[in-house]
Amino acid sequence: MQTDSLVTLDRNHLVHPVVNYRSHEQRGVTVLESGSGAYLRDSNGHELLDAFSGLWCVNTGYGHESIVRAAEEQMRRLPYATGYFHFGSEPAIKLAAKLVELSPASLQRVYFTMGGSDAVDSAIRFIVNYWNALGKSEKKHFITLERGYHGSSSQGAGLTALPVFHRNFDLPLPNQHRIPSPYPYRNPVGSDPAAIIDASVSALRDKVQELGADRVAAFFCEPVQGSGGVIVPPKGWLKAMQECCQALGILFVVDEVITGFGRTGPMFASEAEGVTPDLMTLAKGLTAGYAPMGAVMMSDAVYQGIAEGSGADVPVGHGHTYSAHPVSAAVALEVLRLYGEGGLLNNGIEQAPRFEEGLRSLLDHPLVGDARSRGLLGALELVADKEGKTRFDPALKLADRIFEAAYHNGIILRAFADNVLGFAPALCYTSTDFALLFERLERTLNAVLDQSEVRQALR
Ligand code: PLP
Repeated sequence: MQTDSLVTLDRNHLVHPVVNYRSHEQRGVTVLESGSGAYLRDSNGHELLDAFSGLWCVNTGYGHESIVRAAEEQMRRLPYATGYFHFGSEPAIKLAAKLVELSPASLQRVYFTMGGSDAVDSAIRFIVNYWNALGKSEKKHFITLERGYHGSSSQGAGLTALPVFHRNFDLPLPNQHRIPSPYPYRNPVGSDPAAIIDASVSALRDKVQELGADRVAAFFCEPVQGSGGVIVPPKGWLKAMQECCQALGILFVVDEVITGFGRTGPMFASEAEGVTPDLMTLAKGLTAGYAPMGAVMMSDAVYQGIAEGSGADVPVGHGHTYSAHPVSAAVALEVLRLYGEGGLLNNGIEQAPRFEEGLRSLLDHPLVGDARSRGLLGALELVADKEGKTRFDPALKLADRIFEAAYHNGIILRAFADNVLGFAPALCYTSTDFALLFERLERTLNAVLDQSEVRQALR
């Protein structure tokens, strides 16, 4: 079909995630057509270096034939098997066991979902059930971080602490609370790692004291905050938060939907920090975006609590038709093989310093105030004035300008509204891909800087 016809059909019928509906109708859709390795092609034949792995999910890169074969073989053999009525399928069972083997030792049980939002939503439901089962039914309050993102479900979007996810949606709920983000570039306590960690621990302790420990169910966090602007807390922060949760008697939930599967280096960010969460949410890199799938992993204590509390022969009323979908599970098993035996995890670790150097080299650029990364997850923060870290006036729409200029120069990146540029290159990136990325990125920043309104906005 011609691109023009697709644009018209899209404008008339398809509701897109997280766009302004009116601006989308005006701008029109960009149709992506094919992908190979780190590269995408749109329906106008424009080739693009994908510096964001789709939506930080295609960690393997595009076009892996072995993943296609795994899906095809499973679709032929058995395209669907329910998990209800005690049924199951081989790939799903093997995948659960594999995830338990790869993840922190505390996590022994896996419930599969279709993506990250329903993984977070399932985690919330399991936690509520667990505390009720233990007879601690007052424990209903949840604490997260400012700038946190935990998906778009009715409750999860309330744990998400980004205003657009609340506006007109009657969120957050009265039992959802926030503490400040451990944001090294903009932290009132400064950028000293120990001070940032202390500030977060004190804030969590104070919030729990304010609500009452016997009323708090759990603390949720991302090891690196993704959609809030790629905020990289100091090393040791995650461990300190876990210890604090343990001491306070609340569950510690790590949302590794972005950071899992090699994104920050190791298979899971929790692993590098020696953290053993009570629950962990996963999605994205689990199937590298080749099929929808997410997961909640939980400790045996949480699982046994729910099991004991459910009463003899009373089912635990939580389930999805597509939980543990065999085709997605077969895809995930092959994706995990590519990360390990296929060498992708190692390549990501080897390439990470090149990525970090490339970002840091742009600190000299007049628009760039901060460069930060962990593994292959990184960001540049653009400021109007480096000294005062002043943000640009939102009316300048700098993020949109950068996104369009980057696209024109052949890169897809993520431009956040507060002028943070997010990067999540695939683990298959080579040195040549990184050289091209940073050459195109510098060209993009220079082109935007050359726009008179942008130059005038610099202080
Ligand atoms: N949790 C985190 C940390 C995420 O970044 C996301 C999505 O970006 C989600 C949950 C929700 O995942 P999904 O978009 O697959 O529903």
